[in-house]
Amino acid sequence: MDNNLDWGNLGFAYRKTNERYVSNYKNGTWDEGCMTTDDMVTISECAGVLQYCQACFEGLKAYRTEDGRIVTFRPDLNAQRMEDSAKRLEMPLFPKDRFVEAITKVVQANKEFVPPYGSGGTLYLRPYMFGSSPVIGVKPADEYQFRVFSTPVGPYFSGGAKPITICVSDYDRAAPHGTGNIKAGLNYAMSLHAIVTAHNNGYDENMYLDAATRTKVEETGGANFLFVTKDNKVITPKSDSILPSITRRSLMYVAKEYLGLEVEEREVYFEEVKDFVECGLCGTAAVISPVGKIVDHGKEIIMANGNTQMGPVIQKLYDTLTGIQMGRIEAPEGWIKVIE
Ligand SMILES: *Cc1c(COP(=O)(O)O)cnc(C)c1O
Repeated sequence: MDNNLDWGNLGFAYRKTNERYVSNYKNGTWDEGCMTTDDMVTISECAGVLQYCQACFEGLKAYRTEDGRIVTFRPDLNAQRMEDSAKRLEMPLFPKDRFVEAITKVVQANKEFVPPYGSGGTLYLRPYMFGSSPVIGVKPADEYQFRVFSTPVGPYFSGGAKPITICVSDYDRAAPHGTGNIKAGLNYAMSLHAIVTAHNNGYDENMYLDAATRTKVEETGGANFLFVTKDNKVITPKSDSILPSITRRSLMYVAKEYLGLEVEEREVYFEEVKDFVECGLCGTAAVISPVGKIVDHGKEIIMANGNTQMGPVIQKLYDTLTGIQMGRIEAPEGWIKVIE
């Protein structure tokens, strides 16, 4: 490991690594795929992705464990979710076993970019697929490219997890029966104005409510909510327009099976939020970011057990899941894929 990276201070930015995986879809089939050192993509000026945003993606990480192995966390779920995204966008499915194989190859080819255990860093993996052939009348492309690249990233929180402040957004993230439940770039393109607005107003993130009634909590731009009640029940909002976070699903399992907590996935009314004592945002990037304060047009809700530091339940969830990912705590069957 001598590529002169300052492992403790990587931040979250793209850094080009050695090799990436590419497979092309043409005449109804995927080619055999290959690794390449070429980080540039050459496509038609009229490619489906450029004109009508026909693209989806995934995000996962490779971790260096305490005993020096390199592992990934539940990549089969990312493969499944990418299938679900592709179906909704009329894109071909990339076989799930080949998805996991591509992830494995990319990690193996970029081993020296997997940050050491204890640095807090990880190798972030970005699988994605896009329509590459020309499309001018609105229809699905005929040809597609599936790629996976990797980039080393630092710990999400440098200097400890400080609770963030979020605001209830005036914008909607996802429509009922829309595309909120798939991982499509288009969901992010239209969230940029909302997040820049939130930042300009001094908030770290947006809380989106359901578009139809604006009474129920959905999620943020890129993370699902977890709430903790006064009596230590862990609650996560249920809705067809929430992106099913793998981190959130794993944390709910950990809460129940490892910590013996009661868990509930159900509709959560914004009205109830003031009664919760802890709040966290879950996703691959941070595992859980604690939320200390939620502001609804000037009205502040302060999380009783988590406004100066991570609350006790969320801290336990965080420690247990990161312990599983880093090999300190035994994982449920099938959660950890050892790369080497
Ligand atoms: C990716 C994503 C998440 C987090 O999902 P993980 O699988 O836990 O990384 C949550 N919400 C949205 C909108 C996302 O795109």
